[in-house]
Amino acid sequence: MSTLNFDNHFKDLFENTSDLIHFLTIEGDIIMVNPAWLKTLGYRLNEVKGRSIYDFLHPAYAETYKLVRQKVISENSSEILDTAFLTKNGSTVVGEGQLGCAYQDGKPVYTRLVFRNTTGRRLAEKKVEENEKRLKTFFKNAPDAVIVINQNQQILEWNPKATEIFGFDAFEVIGQPLSETIIPHQYREAHKKGMERFLKTGEGTVLNKTIEITALHKNGREFFVELSISNVMIDGEWLFIAFLSDISERKATEENLIRKEAELLHSKMLDDKKDEFISIASHELKTPLTTIKAYTQLALSAANTSEKVQEFLSTIDQQINKLSFLLNELLDVSRIQAGKLKMTTEEIEFSSFLQSTLNSIQQITPHHKIILENNHSVKVMADPMRLEQVIANLISNAAKYSPGKDKIFVNSVTEDHRITISVSDSGIGISQQNLEKIFTRFYRIDESLKNFSGLGIGLYISSEIIKQHSGKIWAESSPNVGSTFYFELPVEK
Ligand code: ADP
Repeated sequence: MSTLNFDNHFKDLFENTSDLIHFLTIEGDIIMVNPAWLKTLGYRLNEVKGRSIYDFLHPAYAETYKLVRQKVISENSSEILDTAFLTKNGSTVVGEGQLGCAYQDGKPVYTRLVFRNTTGRRLAEKKVEENEKRLKTFFKNAPDAVIVINQNQQILEWNPKATEIFGFDAFEVIGQPLSETIIPHQYREAHKKGMERFLKTGEGTVLNKTIEITALHKNGREFFVELSISNVMIDGEWLFIAFLSDISERKATEENLIRKEAELLHSKMLDDKKDEFISIASHELKTPLTTIKAYTQLALSAANTSEKVQEFLSTIDQQINKLSFLLNELLDVSRIQAGKLKMTTEEIEFSSFLQSTLNSIQQITPHHKIILENNHSVKVMADPMRLEQVIANLISNAAKYSPGKDKIFVNSVTEDHRITISVSDSGIGISQQNLEKIFTRFYRIDESLKNFSGLGIGLYISSEIIKQHSGKIWAESSPNVGSTFYFELPVEK
């Protein structure tokens, strides 16, 4: 073992450097270590002197250390070496250093390692690496397309979601100007100007906001996206990060809704126009019809007309009555639409009212016998003319829609201060899906359209009348078996 003589400056350097230095015998025992070595690994000099270096090396690095040491000893070379030590309390100190060998008279006498502790730096690097990894994972799995461009508009980053949304693979677009990829032609100029303005003034109209705009797919299809862009300055250059999501489906739903609303409005406008026409037409027709009716009545009462002419005149009179009935129904529809269907209610003794109403309806329903099965003496507040109109409508329907049959049954039931009147026929019936629709204005079942005349407003008017009496109207039916129409009214206490 040779004694070492340091001159003062070297000693100072040895003692005050932050690098770790040790000298070993050719066998690998410690001759000397510097204070930084002792401090970093937590030992005192007398605890280490004379001991094998392998007591202090991290076991995972021992083999490499041994090999490199053999090399520097046999070749008199100097090698850069990554290694690690264990401190006295068991933690690891990693670093890199330079391992060399000293020769005297052509013989190796000791090896030296000058070693820099990079544990802290390594940890920081590891953290950065982990952060980067984490960011990359976010970027890769982001639910939105994430595109990064620089101030020359070149695409720098393009995540998998961007590929999914726009159809371009990252390798196709990275380095390309954004405006030549996903920006629709009509926005390219504005995009360029916007960027120039931002670089000049620092103002950007689309920055840090969420906007809805269209974008281009690789296949040329233009579709709606939601876009937000933020900007950051890195190394003196602006970078722009765009987050985009495909909202074409949401847009389509919204557009559908708007279209539907427009259609509804349109059909409502058409309905309003129709109502207006019906109202005007029925009023206009009413006046000449009244005059014809009056003259027919006069002609009928004239004494000097022949029997034949009398017969013709009464046919005309009957047809006028039919026409006038239809016109009155149309006028009622207009009144309902205008909210002007007025009721003049009075207290009615219902059993006699029903009986006399049926008697008069029976006169104009010669082919069907109206059979009143139950009648109750209760009092109701009602407009007798309007109520008669409802009953007449139900019975005339029962007769009309049961050709070949000859009976119509009328029933009444009183319960809980309500009276329910029903009108039953054994006619063509109504399918389940039509049962509610028949009370809407102008609704006629297809089969009825072909085989029976009518305007499809009788039940609509009836239901309005019953509604205004705080009542209820409905139907039950089986196709080809028959129908029963019900209406219910409150009874006076
Ligand atoms: P209209 O009889 O003039 O067509 P309504 O408003 O009185 O108009 O009736 C509406 C529709 O309801 C009719 O077109 C018909 O299809 C159906 N309907 C009404 N009453 C009956 C019934 N008793 N039996 C079968 N179908 C009926």
